[in-house]
Amino acid sequence: MSSISDEAIVLSRIDYSETSQVLVCFTRNHGKVRVIGKGLKKSTKTRFAAGIDLLDIGHLTISARHARTEQLSTIIEWKQTKSLGGLRDSLQRLYAAQYIADITSRLTEDWDPHETLFLALVNALKATSTADQVLLSVVEYQRQLLQEIGSYPRFDCCMLCQRRDHLSHFSSFEGGMICQHCQTQQVEKKRLLPATLSALQHRASADNYAGAFKTLNYHISHQMGKESALAGKLLV
Ligand SMILES: [Zn+2]
Repeated sequence: MSSISDEAIVLSRIDYSETSQVLVCFTRNHGKVRVIGKGLKKSTKTRFAAGIDLLDIGHLTISARHARTEQLSTIIEWKQTKSLGGLRDSLQRLYAAQYIADITSRLTEDWDPHETLFLALVNALKATSTADQVLLSVVEYQRQLLQEIGSYPRFDCCMLCQRRDHLSHFSSFEGGMICQHCQTQQVEKKRLLPATLSALQHRASADNYAGAFKTLNYHISHQMGKESALAGKLLV
């Protein structure tokens, strides 16, 4: 039976029956794949198998039979290669990592390779697993994800008249800033504080990261059709 092997990160996990799991994994060379593991959770006499966990990083081998189709591919083998135990040391880190996994899963297509994004995802999860201020690594990853899928907004000029000053609002629909003269004609918009705009333009200091996170999350939510359930938990 032909198979496909790749590095993978588990983005979501559903326990399918007592012994099976359905996983969404992001792989290095094949993009996002949906897979089913049968018998993964079955314990043996010598080994207690807890199955594969959310955010695990490992080496995945799947059957090539359903590759590049909408059907689930069967897991042949899984070897965990990295443990980011730090993610589970604090609730904020875990929420941040789950948010990162959620937006990745929802903004990428099955079997669409994005190696740069895979590497960014590994780095973001590593940084989050040791972070005191998790929003920093989340904002950095929001930027990378939007750049990789070609939806990174413009923060340097008005999308309607191209002027570079008096930028007061952000519009997800227009894909960037709107100036105070044009904003009256724009229905979908969000007012940005100057400090937030500055953080988005210059990658400014940590104290502006909440505003940057909210703005990029607003844009990502529009791309996804709804907001990630984890977003609110990162702003407490
Ligand atoms: Zn304008």
